[in-house]
Amino acid sequence: MKIITTVLEMQTEMREKKKSLKSIGFVPTMGFLHEGHIRLLRKARAETDIVVLSIFVNPLQFGPNEDLDKYPRDFDRDKEIALREEVDYLFFPSNTEMYPKSSSVKVVVQERTEVLCGKSRPGHFDGVATVLTKLFNIVLPDSVYMGMKDAQQVAVVDGLISDFHFPITLVPVDTVREEDGLAKSSRNVNLSPSERSEATVLFESLNMAGSLINRGERSPKVIVSEIEKLILSKSRGKIDYIEVLSYPELKQIEILEGKIIIALAVKFEHARLIDNIVLNTHELS
Ligand code: AMP
Repeated sequence: MKIITTVLEMQTEMREKKKSLKSIGFVPTMGFLHEGHIRLLRKARAETDIVVLSIFVNPLQFGPNEDLDKYPRDFDRDKEIALREEVDYLFFPSNTEMYPKSSSVKVVVQERTEVLCGKSRPGHFDGVATVLTKLFNIVLPDSVYMGMKDAQQVAVVDGLISDFHFPITLVPVDTVREEDGLAKSSRNVNLSPSERSEATVLFESLNMAGSLINRGERSPKVIVSEIEKLILSKSRGKIDYIEVLSYPELKQIEILEGKIIIALAVKFEHARLIDNIVLNTHELS
C-alpha cells in the first residue's frame, strides 16, 4: 500500500494507472475507520483493480458550532485497517494541501438540500460537493463507493456526478449496523454509556415505522408522530428531525407511495446521530 499526501503525486500515479486501463475504485472517508467503511472497501476491492481510500476531515463541511475539533482521529489504526483490507493507495492530504489558498470557486448544491441534514446543517452539502469535486479530479476514479447511512449525501452526489458529467459510477452500499441495530458511525465513540444504550431507539423506531407501513399505514404525519413518541419515551436525545420523503428526489409527500426514505437525526450531548431506511411500498412483503 502506498500512502500519498500530495495532490500532484496522487494525480500522477492515477494517470499512470489509467494508461494501463486499470479500473479505479474510490472510497472517500473522514477516517476513524469502522466496519461501515470496511464494507465499502471490500466492495471496491471485489469490483475494481485499484482501490483508493482517502482520509480527510473536510473543514468545509462543518458548521461553526459543529464537532470539527471533536471529530475522532487515529491515523495509525486506520493505516493498519487499510493494509489489512488490501487498499492500494491511501490518500491522506493535509488541510493546506487540499485548500492551499482561499478558494475562488465553490460548488453550491441547489436541490435535495432543503430537507434533512441540508436544512439543519446549512452549507454542509456545498462543502461535501466541493471536496468531492476536488477529490474526483485528484483520484480520477471509475467508481465511487458511498454508504446509504448518509442517504442524502448519496442523493446529492448522484446529482453532482450527473450534472457535472463526471465519468464515474456511484455505488451505494447498505448501512452496516452494530448487533443491537445502531448504525456504525465514527461519532458513536463520543456517546456516554447511557446515551449509547438509548441510541438503539433510532433503529428501533425506524423498524417500527417499517412495520406500520407493512400493515398499511400510508400517512407520513402518522409515521413521524409514532417515531417521535417512541424516541421521546426511550431517550433523552433531542430530536433534530424526523422526515418521510420520496427517494432519491427528497420531496415532501402527502401519501406514502413508491420509493421513500424515513430519516431522522437525534442530538445527544457529544454526538449527533443520523439513521434512515429506504423502502418501496410497491415491494412490501
Ligand atoms: P465518513 O467517514 O463518516 O465521512 O463516511 C465515509 C463513507 O462511509 C460515507 O460514504 C459513509 O456513508 C460511509 N459509511 C459511514 N458509516 C457507514 C455505515 N454504518 N454503513 C455503511 N457505510 C457507512
